[in-house]
Amino acid sequence: MKLTRKDKGELFAEAIVTGMIVYFFYLGSEIVFKQVLFYAFPNLKETIWGLKLATNIYSFKNYALFFVGLLTIIVIIWRLKRRIKQMQLNHIIEDLHYIAQGHYEHRIPFALKGDMGKVVESIHTLVSSTVDAMEEERAIEKSKDELITNVSHDIRTPLTSIIGYLGLIEDKQYKNEEELLAYTHVAYLKAKQMSLLVEDLFEYTKVRQRSTPLTITKFNLVQLLEQLEVEFQMDAEQKGVTFNLEVSDLEIFIEADAEKLVRVFNNLLSNALKYGKDATLLEIKAQKFDEQVMISVSNNGAAIPENSLKMLFERFYRVETSRSTETGGTGLGLAIAQSIVELHDGTIHAQSNEKKTAFIIYLPIKSKEILKN
Ligand code: ATP
Ligand code: MG
Repeated sequence: MKLTRKDKGELFAEAIVTGMIVYFFYLGSEIVFKQVLFYAFPNLKETIWGLKLATNIYSFKNYALFFVGLLTIIVIIWRLKRRIKQMQLNHIIEDLHYIAQGHYEHRIPFALKGDMGKVVESIHTLVSSTVDAMEEERAIEKSKDELITNVSHDIRTPLTSIIGYLGLIEDKQYKNEEELLAYTHVAYLKAKQMSLLVEDLFEYTKVRQRSTPLTITKFNLVQLLEQLEVEFQMDAEQKGVTFNLEVSDLEIFIEADAEKLVRVFNNLLSNALKYGKDATLLEIKAQKFDEQVMISVSNNGAAIPENSLKMLFERFYRVETSRSTETGGTGLGLAIAQSIVELHDGTIHAQSNEKKTAFIIYLPIKSKEILKN
């Protein structure tokens, strides 16, 4: 602890006062001692402290002075130590008041030993965890606000179109039946887009909760991927993309929620086809390790910019170009995929360079959840 000038002054005064008290005590005891001795030996003339000892080298008084001096030093040190402890306590109380007034970044600025040190350490831990909790709370609040803003924005856009086109029909502002059908068609598409958003949003809030129940079964992942290959083959061919499935084993049995994983792969595959600009190759690889399986979905074509790569898994995030080309997604697909993978205690990440863009998933082969069936 750093002592202030005031502290130092107080300590100095304390030392002087203590020294004086001990000195007065010494004088008092000398007088009492003299009185008692004169009373016992009435014909004694010499002063008592000056009584010569047999050795004649040191006077008794010198011994007494030495002893009293030592005692004074010990008493002063003891009193000062107590005083310093008291000062530390006062400083701690002052600092605590300061922290309690909202200066949560402030810390008690000195290291202490012993119990007091432990108390200060506990206080620091308490303050840090309170600050963390408050920040977390604030982040959740902010993310809720963002969610509402994004949802309202994404709902408002198609809704405005629907109202616009239905308004035209209502006011009979169409030339013929063909135009009428065109207007209803647009309104229908926009309504479908809205319904998709609501469904995605519902799914997203559901899988985001850690407590979401999974329907775990043991199934052959290779078979599931083969089914997906069949489903996406046509789409890929139409876009001039070659679809490849490569597996390390003929059968890879894993314990997982098959339906939810299909949701993940569906999004990764449709993303690859939708956003893989100039892509000619779409590839799924599955590789079995001791306790986990790695599945990668990759495509060649234009790379995802480095700074977008980090944000891909954030809800509503869409790389700017895909937003402007109106490819129609909500930006929730990867956020949902990440939540689903994490519910399975797995990980998902994206890599992208000029050669290929890959989404890589690691899943444990055995689930921690109880097997249904
Ligand atoms: P949704 O999946 O909800 O319909 P979305 O596809 O836009 O909407 P995500 O699946 O979360 O949302 O993808 C987020 C963004 O990541 C996409 O908008 C796209 O910009 C980018 N992206 C995803 N996969 C690829 C890919 N293979 N190549 C290039 N960009 C991609
Ligand atoms: Mg998507």
